[in-house]
Order: sequence, then structure tokens, then C-alpha cells
Amino acid sequence: MVMEPPTPGGNSGASVARGASERAPIGSASEGAASGNANVVTAGAAYIGGKIVPISEAVIPILDLGFLHSDATYDVAHVWRGRFFRLGDHLDRFERGMKKLRMSLPIDREEIRRILHDCVRASGLANAYVEMICTRGMAAPGSRDPRDCVNQFYAFAVPFAWIATPEQQEQGLSVHVSRVQRIAPESVDPTVKNYHWLDLVQGLFDAYDHDAETALLSDADGNVVEGPGFNVFAVTAGALVTPKAGVLKGVTRKTALEIGAELGAELDLPVEERALSYDELVEANEVFVTSTAGGIMPVCAIDGRPVGAGVPGPVTEEIKSRYWLMHDDPWYFEQVD
Ligand code: PLP
Repeated sequence: MVMEPPTPGGNSGASVARGASERAPIGSASEGAASGNANVVTAGAAYIGGKIVPISEAVIPILDLGFLHSDATYDVAHVWRGRFFRLGDHLDRFERGMKKLRMSLPIDREEIRRILHDCVRASGLANAYVEMICTRGMAAPGSRDPRDCVNQFYAFAVPFAWIATPEQQEQGLSVHVSRVQRIAPESVDPTVKNYHWLDLVQGLFDAYDHDAETALLSDADGNVVEGPGFNVFAVTAGALVTPKAGVLKGVTRKTALEIGAELGAELDLPVEERALSYDELVEANEVFVTSTAGGIMPVCAIDGRPVGAGVPGPVTEEIKSRYWLMHDDPWYFEQVD
């Protein structure tokens, strides 16, 4: 079934349900929306093979190397109250990633932008998580040469997903700094947004085993770098610090750096992009994580120890408030057309 894009709807943007224990595998007797399986996303629309289809019908060929080898790059923008936030920055990063991976598409940036708008409009979602993907595609029969592949473009819009819901953000997240080491930047360039997530997922399980809500991973030198889907910032005694190397240059990180520079001038708190050690992190006055999937999210405990006073701190709250205000600034948003 091909969907006709309706006008943007009033969906409030349900967060993705947590806790997988009660969920059934795809294909099991209780699979599907009709049986109430929370694992099947029923709201949303995707662009696959040149068509917009309901998200539940969006499938990719099993031989696509994006699936078989994680040979892909992607980007995620969000739509908040019917508006894309910093879509140009997401498209820039997506294009840079494709170039670094030697991928190209027959469609240009404006066509990609149009498809993303179409997905959101077709989904009817006012608050959406919008993903664009370029995969290597399928190899020619018998070939193992990536140059023989025709790169593929896919996109979809689903309900906005929070790394920490607004309720969790009021308490602040509890984080475990995992012993799982982040994949080395010399092996997989973290500035190319990629699906090499096994370290991040193992870190997440490690965090759950330590009764924490999420994880941070460190590099080979023991410096904290990033977590599953987010960058990290620490407000230390003398600066607002975020890791410089070994991380995805998040669009939310960029926004936090811009707000931090503005606020830093007011508070005499310089912004520093540099290595962040474990000791500095746990001794920080405030810690927060940043992601398109949730914005600026306070961290109130690390490895069972409270961060600062154990509640979201004033610098974090101010950056968070300015971040959401920027969503109303026409310089940063574009209306879903
Ligand atoms: N780091 C990693 C590994 C990510 O996957 C993400 C987003 O998915 C981020 C950081 C945050 O990036 P952004 O702020 O652009 O969402």
C-alpha cells in the first residue's frame, strides 16, 4: 500500500516504550499491532524503493550490505510541533558521512529534504524522529567488491523517541561508566554516524546489570567519550567540558556548545572541548548528555554516586531551557510543508 501524505496531525509524540521483557519476537503468535505487541511500531511512514509506505510495511532486501555488514551511514533529525530542528546541519553531516564512506546517491540534497518532509507529512506526526539512511546496497551476484554496489537511500518518520523522558529528566539519569571500551576511532570513524553499535549495546546491558539507566563508554586512554545515542558534558569547577575526540559531532552537542559559549560569557565559565577523564566526570558539579532524541538531559548519579547535589543543576537547566526556546527561532527550524 502506498500512502497519500496527509497534512501534519496533532500526535503528541508518544515516547518509545522501555522494558522488552513482555515483548514477543517478530513472527511469533502474538506479533503485530492487532495483538497489541508493543515491539511493533505502527505509527509512522517510510520511503523505500521510491515510494512512501506505512512503517509496518517498510522492508529492505536482506542482501543489502547495510544490513549484512553495517555498511551504511545515517542521520536522525527531529520534528517538534510540526517543525524540523536544524535539518540543514543533519543533511550536512549525512552528506559528509557518505563522502567519507565513498557512497553516492542519484538524488540530491533538496530531493532528500523533500522525501523527509513527505515521510513526516504521511505519518501525520507532529513530534517525530526522522531518519535518513544510505547503505552500500547489494553486491553484484558473486562479487565481494563494494564498488559493484548501487548505494541505496531509505528514510522514515516514527514517533519522537526520548533517551530520557521529561519525567526521568526531572530526576536526572543514573549512568554507569562501562568497562566496555568504545570502538577505536582509528577503526571506525565516529564522526560518520554509523550502525557499529555492539559496544554501545553491550555497555547498555552492563549499565542495567549495575542498576543504572544508561551507559557511558571510555576510549583506550580511559577518557570518557560518549554513550548509546548521546554526547556528554561536565560542568567542572572551572569550565563546561565535552570530549573532543572519539565522538560523533552531535548536532545537539553543537547546539549545547553554542549556548554554552553564550552562557559561559555571562557566568565566566569557559567552554572546553578536550579529553574528559573519569575522575573529572565523577567530581563534576553537573553532568548532562545531549541527543536529538531528547535534547539536553541531566545526569544525577554516576556509578551510584550523586553528581553535585544529586538533582539537575542550574547550568544544565539553563542550557536545556535555551535549547527548547531555539525550536521557536526561525533561524533553526523549518516547518513541515
Ligand atoms: N553519539 C552517538 C554515538 C550517537 O549515535 C548520537 C545520536 O544518535 C549522538 C552522539 C548525538 O548526536 P545528535 O545530537 O546529533 O543526535
